[in-house]
Formats: sequence, structure tokens, C-alpha cells
Amino acid sequence: MIKVGVVGAAGRMGRNIIASIDDTEGVELGGGTESAGHPDLGRDLGELAGLAKKNVALTDDVNALVDACDVIIDFTLPEVSMATLKAVAAKNKAVVFGTTGFSAGQKREIEQAAKSIRCVLAPNMSIGVNVLFKIAGEVARVLGDAYDVEIVEAHHKFKKDAPSGTAVRISEIVADALERNLDEVGVYGRKGFSDGRGEKEIGVHTLRAGDIIGEHRVMFGGMGETLELSHRAQSRQTFARGSVRAAQWVVSQPPGLYDMQDVLGLRD
Ligand code: NAD
Repeated sequence: MIKVGVVGAAGRMGRNIIASIDDTEGVELGGGTESAGHPDLGRDLGELAGLAKKNVALTDDVNALVDACDVIIDFTLPEVSMATLKAVAAKNKAVVFGTTGFSAGQKREIEQAAKSIRCVLAPNMSIGVNVLFKIAGEVARVLGDAYDVEIVEAHHKFKKDAPSGTAVRISEIVADALERNLDEVGVYGRKGFSDGRGEKEIGVHTLRAGDIIGEHRVMFGGMGETLELSHRAQSRQTFARGSVRAAQWVVSQPPGLYDMQDVLGLRD
């Protein structure tokens, strides 16, 4: 039985991850943490996730959580995940990060740590979005420079980072496929007058409203036609199930930095 710990256990994703662990054979909940002073500290994790009592209490001790578990799932904030990384590296355990919004420096720290620990880092754990990642690059390559690429994402009003980690990943994939430097061609929203769209621009646009779980659209606009790829998440369970699948997979891998393309066997 693989013991899984959840950092950010009382969060929107944390509660869904606890429910997914409960639903999956071969894994059991080893514990969960929240920030110091969180009002739910001490509460039963099962009850917190709307399930029967699990007799495991929510704590704020990430080191004890890492000690008690084989693998940690962390969907929180970049600075919280960096502290989880340190705790996991000190004990040579495995970790799955769903957190988005890491800086380039934080990503480098994760890459460095993953030379000696097993780590999955993926901005979107759903199967559909990972298939979208795979085909977006192929479509961009086939259509080439004659088609303008615009990426639109929509999320709930509480989301902290923008654009979404998923939209960032799509823009990186399309830029790679078209051999463009995203730092030079990425355009994040537009306003005012210009001479029109730059030929090689990759537009990325963010919408925030209500309780939208996650929507992504990649538009390839040509003269006389538009091709669109789109994905809509109807439930957080799709991300939670993906993260538990990643946790089960990564415990038996050699040290390294993986993403969902590896977990799902989608890598070429
Ligand atoms: P949320 O705010 O509901 O949950 C985050 C939780 O982390 C909160 O409960 C917060 O109290 C907790 N937290 C803060 N400091 C902590 C600490 N020191 N120790 C432990 N817990 C701490 O947010 P959410 O909607 O669950 O999203 C969390 C992250 O996951 C975001 O970065 C979001 O973009 C990302 N996300 C990723 C995917 C994916 O598939 N990879 C899917 C959905 C969301």
C-alpha cells in the first residue's frame, strides 16, 4: 500500500485529492497539512473532504508528513511547494507538484533537486489537457507561420496566478513547434492602437469569472478559416485523479523530473 500525504489538504484541490485517494486501490492517506494557524487544523481529513471519518488529523507539520508517507501531493503556492521540496529531498521521498506560477528560478531549483529525488511537476493533470499539449504542437507545426496562434484561458475568480500554468505550457509548446522565442513573441492581452497583429505573435489571454474550473482554447487563425482546439474541465476530480495516478507511478521510477506526458505514456 502506497502512503500518500497531501500538502494544502483543506484547499479546493486538497479536498478532491483526499477523495481520490479514498477512491483508488493500492493507495492510502498518510496525512495532510495546512498553513500554521489555519482554522481547520486538528480536524479529521475524511470529514474535511466530505467522507467518513479517517482518524487522521490535519496538521501544519510538513516534515512529519514526509516522514509518514511514501509520496507527497502538493497543490498550493510556489513558496509552499519550495518548502515541501526541501522536506522531501531531505528524506529522499517522492513528490507530485500540481502548483502553478513557479518562477524560472524556482523551476531551476526543482530541476536541481530532481537529480536525486523522484518528482512529477505538471501544470495540468487531466488526461484531456495532456492530449491537447501533444496535439497543439503538431497542429502548429503543420499549419506553420501562415496561421496566427491565440490562446484563451478562463478560470474561477479566486485563482491567484495569470495566465494559467496550462496556458503558459501551451504557449511554450507552440513557440517550440514554430521555432520562436516566447519571450520575444508572447503578447499578454491587447489594448489601444497598433499597426495590427505582429506576424509571429503568440497571444495569451486570461479571463477570470465566477467558479469556472478551467477552460483552454487554442485558436489557429488563417485567411478564410480558423481551427480551434479546446478543453473544458467540468470537475476538479479530473486533476485529483491525475495527481493520484502520478503519485502511484512516480514511486517506482528512478530519480528525475517528470510530467504528465511521462505518467500517461504520451511522450514520443
Ligand atoms: P486553494 O487556495 O483552494 O488551495 C491551496 C491550499 O494551500 C489552501 O488551502 C492554503 O491554505 C494551503 N496552504 C497555504 N500555505 C500552506 C502551507 N504553508 N502548508 C500547507 N498548505 C498551505 O487553491 P487550489 O484551487 O486548490 O489550487 C492550488 C494550486 O493548484 C494552484 O497553484 C492552482 O493553479 C493549481 N492547480 C493545478 C492543477 C493541475 O492539474 N496541476 C489543477 C487545479 C489547480
